[in-house]
Amino acid sequence: MFSSMHTHAVQELHFCQQGPLNAVVALHNLRLGPALGGCRFIEYTTELDAIHDAMRLARGMSYKAALAHVPQGGGKAVIMKPKGEFDREELFRLFGQFIHSLGGRYITAMDSGTTVSDMDILRTQTPFVSSSSNIGDPSPSTAQGMLIGIEAAVRFLMNQPLQGMTVAIQGLGHVGWALAEHLHKVGCKLIVCDIDEKKTQQAEKIFAAKAVRVNEIYQQSCDVFSPCGLGGILNETTLSLLNCKIIAGCANNQLAHDDVASQIHKMGILYAPDYVINSGGLVFASSSYHGMNQQQIKHEVNKLKDTLDKIFVLSKKKNVATNQIANEMAEHILYGEASHSDWVMEAV
Ligand code: NAD
Repeated sequence: MFSSMHTHAVQELHFCQQGPLNAVVALHNLRLGPALGGCRFIEYTTELDAIHDAMRLARGMSYKAALAHVPQGGGKAVIMKPKGEFDREELFRLFGQFIHSLGGRYITAMDSGTTVSDMDILRTQTPFVSSSSNIGDPSPSTAQGMLIGIEAAVRFLMNQPLQGMTVAIQGLGHVGWALAEHLHKVGCKLIVCDIDEKKTQQAEKIFAAKAVRVNEIYQQSCDVFSPCGLGGILNETTLSLLNCKIIAGCANNQLAHDDVASQIHKMGILYAPDYVINSGGLVFASSSYHGMNQQQIKHEVNKLKDTLDKIFVLSKKKNVATNQIANEMAEHILYGEASHSDWVMEAV
């Protein structure tokens, strides 16, 4: 277990077994503040799978928080979903007590398998929760950040405004749909796909979008390909199909493996690292937890433009993949000497 923690650079693991609750909280790095990260509630084949998932995801949260300028560390909770019948309310009440026992070192939020009502139950046990029915949905902030990020990428690569650009969106969910609304408003042409045909039909009507089949989205000729559905979709096979200049989407963990980033770079495609361009949701969660209003949150989300600009400039200057630059910047903040505010200038 310790060598596994060392591999993931995770500082702390906390476990709780009580009644129906089998939970683990992984705290990766608390240099910037208390850890903030979602709580995953899905079935796992083995306990080790659950623990590794928590560690892997906690690390990702540290990197995302570091580049999003939020005063949070990286952490993640995983609850192993019981296979049979169970009392959901009791389970989340117990989980709330567990979170509370960590004394604010970890702030939880919604993630795969959890709902707003689960968060509301947690809130009856602890204040260390950043999602609830009072706080609202982070997706609009994620979509706002996506718009700003895509605009920055287009400006960097083509020195042109967004208007008139063709954007292919894979997945019209909470973020994908809101992004389509923004892009339509600024005059982009849209190509869309989703496994849910109702959504693509709506997009045809409302945005005059061209709807294509799920397996046809990769080869569409476009300026920007925006993966907003699933993770792991950028691999050798899909790269060989792509016909775009920029990849900029909100889906988490888009790269099937790290080498894919270098391949994208060699192909001359500008890749906006997923955890940077989709950080509007984390900014929303952190800012609303700290009592900021909508306008302040918007202002904070806008900062991701500067971060992306710096990543693009450095990637071009050093001729290395944008993802590698983003990781180096994050590690500099998490482990280096520089303070949170001066790292970007230093890196450039
Ligand atoms: P969502 O579940 O609302 O939307 C996903 C959409 O993708 C759905 O409409 C679904 O039908 C579609 N889809 C699924 N498989 C598909 C496929 N093979 N091809 C095309 N479409 C497919 O999720 P969301 O909240 O919009 O998030 C989308 C992605 O962005 C996820 O990876 C999520 O982790 C990530 N993300 C979301 C937020 C946020 O604020 N919601 C923040 C950061 C990252």
